Amino acid sequence: MDGPAGAGKSTVAKRVAQELGLRFLDTGAMYRAVTLAVLERSIHPSDADACAEVARSIELDFDDAGKVLIDGRPGEPDVRSQTVTLNVSAVSAHPSVREAVVARQRAIARRPPGVVAEGRDTTTVVFPEADHKFFLNASPDERARRRALQEGSPDRYEEILGDIQRRDDLDATRAHSPLVQADDAHAIDADSRSVDEVVAAVLAVVRSASRA
Ligand code: C5P
Repeated sequence: MDGPAGAGKSTVAKRVAQELGLRFLDTGAMYRAVTLAVLERSIHPSDADACAEVARSIELDFDDAGKVLIDGRPGEPDVRSQTVTLNVSAVSAHPSVREAVVARQRAIARRPPGVVAEGRDTTTVVFPEADHKFFLNASPDERARRRALQEGSPDRYEEILGDIQRRDDLDATRAHSPLVQADDAHAIDADSRSVDEVVAAVLAVVRSASRA
């Protein structure tokens, strides 16, 4: 499942994974983890070689609750910090960083029982042969409104909207693995639907395909 920042992919993918008995793979958390490790080592996010070396050398995995582990220790909540959020698009734009992170994503997905992955390029680049593909979208206004509510800080709406628009732009215009909708993905508009309705729409597609 791919889509822009704040469309609700994590919430939906987590619920779908639970329903289907699969594991949830938050690929964004892996790029956030690399970014955190880069910043902790005082490496500049524009230094592609140094960022890639970090991506190759740290151990990235997930605990049973689907939370990212960096060298075996919890990455949350630091991977969600404002500093990481501001720098993650720059770090994740380096092809050599992506190559290292994608290899790990594929290795995790190979372990039974399989995954429901969410991110920006999971349907196009990481898992082009996925059984089911979804593109979850919503307007920037709605995404910022929901995220501000989720954080319990409605006064941060403008700031969050600015961050979402800046990240969308960087993620959609980068040369390597930009955010695009796969030709064979089911597009779901989250603006007019609740989380329950989006989950139900995804499950309906999966279940009708397995009955066919
Ligand atoms: O999904 P989340 O907002 O946590 O992702 C953080 C950042 O990681 C994105 O803005 C994007 O730059 C990067 N990302 C990516 N490819 C993915 C998932 C996330 O480049 N598959």
